[in-house]
Amino acid sequence: MQMIIYLFSIWANGESKYGDVVPAGVLYMPSGEKYINANRNIDNENLKNENNKNNKLKGFVLSDSVIIESMEEGKKKIFIPASLDKENKPTGNVLTIGQIGVLKEKIDSILKEMAEELLKGNINAYPVKGKDYEHTCEYCDYKDVCNIEEYDKRKEIKDRDFTEISTTMLCKDGEENG
Ligand code: SF4
Repeated sequence: MQMIIYLFSIWANGESKYGDVVPAGVLYMPSGEKYINANRNIDNENLKNENNKNNKLKGFVLSDSVIIESMEEGKKKIFIPASLDKENKPTGNVLTIGQIGVLKEKIDSILKEMAEELLKGNINAYPVKGKDYEHTCEYCDYKDVCNIEEYDKRKEIKDRDFTEISTTMLCKDGEENG
């Protein structure tokens, strides 16, 4: 959620510095070691293709063909998770400006709720768990302060695709707040 908060902060407050601000999307590359599972005799071209699959960015892009083409030229998009179909319409991980606005409202309300809870003194440790989150607390410097125990509740993070996440986030009554 962090990068989306940055984006929305600039959208709401960036006019004096950047002029008219329109969010064009959020893209990020997850960190961590990536390995290619390939035959040892793989040729350079295929090796490059396999490697590019690992370099696909995550996130979403504004549903605008000019923006998409400006982010990555060419019919086949290797790095951004959006492209243009045969009729030049945006497809993939795209959101309209209206949908981005709904997302902003949702995130603003989550942040407000979090701030209110903090003001009430509710700062319970509530770490995440799930695929890629098995070691959340293992190397944390605050472990001795927060006193988390093995049996304490954790927030389950599920591996979901963009459609599933955006449908939940854009649903006004959705429960997603991770
Ligand atoms: S050990 Fe660190 S990451 Fe885990 S719950 Fe406590 S503060 Fe959060």
